[in-house]
Amino acid sequence: MISESETETCPHCRSEGVAADATHCPHCGQRIEPRFTRATAFLVVALLVAVLAVTMVVRAQDKANRDASRQTECIVSSVDPSTC
Ligand SMILES: [Zn+2]
Repeated sequence: MISESETETCPHCRSEGVAADATHCPHCGQRIEPRFTRATAFLVVALLVAVLAVTMVVRAQDKANRDASRQTECIVSSVDPSTC
């Protein structure tokens, strides 16, 4: 017997005992959106953190590159350093 926490009610035919990760109802065959499980939540958070980290690293590198090129321009054109 499947435990109560791993099943849900079909939103279409109201049948109970539908697997939480089922994509289709075994009773009426209607498509069911997968429930937002804890594993899914963890995956989304992990993905967000990864994207954020990559964005920060790319921005930091981009800023460093811009600062370096700006300094080089000043040295090459020998402009007043205070304007850099
Ligand atoms: Zn159903």
